[in-house]
Amino acid sequence: MSVAISALEAVSEAIGRNKEYLTSLDAAIGDADHGINMARGFDAVVAKARTLPPDADVGTVLKTAGMTLISTVGGAAGPLYGTAFLRAAGTAQGAAIDGAAVIRMLEAAINGIKERGKAVRGEKTMLDALEPAVEAFADRYKAGRPLVECLDAACEAADKGVAFTKTIIATKGRASYLGERSIGHQDPGATSSFIILKALADFCR
Ligand code: ADP
Ligand code: MG
Ligand code: MG
Repeated sequence: MSVAISALEAVSEAIGRNKEYLTSLDAAIGDADHGINMARGFDAVVAKARTLPPDADVGTVLKTAGMTLISTVGGAAGPLYGTAFLRAAGTAQGAAIDGAAVIRMLEAAINGIKERGKAVRGEKTMLDALEPAVEAFADRYKAGRPLVECLDAACEAADKGVAFTKTIIATKGRASYLGERSIGHQDPGATSSFIILKALADFCR
């Protein structure tokens, strides 16, 4: 079985475990469906990925994931995460994933989310977890630290980014309808981004 498919299974499992949590966060500032959307999407991703040949390369697996998320998840998060996976797929070269490849994939994914969502960091979205994560990863990687340490630093930065979303006003997505009343609430999408990164980091151990 392709390592990339096993990694997606780990992500799907983590999303499934956090389905109620993500939905409860979205109940506070959105429409109470983020966990449901994400679980439906990643269940479909795993089902689709398992139909791929066992030796499918990383690019093919990521592309399949992206297309499946776009076609099975309604709302904001499906197309945004779908675009992220498609962009990451576009950077994949063969089978080997080293630190430089991780940085390329994450940066491409983030740029895809920014373009598709017309958002920047600081607007209380998934970008508030993902951008600090890739920066922390790149810092450690450039300092010559081992991959596991880079991944841990990325998760720690993402976690801080999630906490930061509690302190700011949402200016994108449904939570923006609440204006100042969105302050004090944690962004569901930033939280799912942290959960995905943590699942991938744990998978790489
Ligand atoms: P919906 O809001 O359509 O119900 P979800 O609940 O699944 O979709 O996802 C909501 C999450 O999507 C938010 O918590 C936020 O992180 C993210 N999001 C919403 N709009 C944007 C955007 N324009 N750019 C980036 N992320 C966004
Ligand atoms: Mg929602
Ligand atoms: Mg919705």
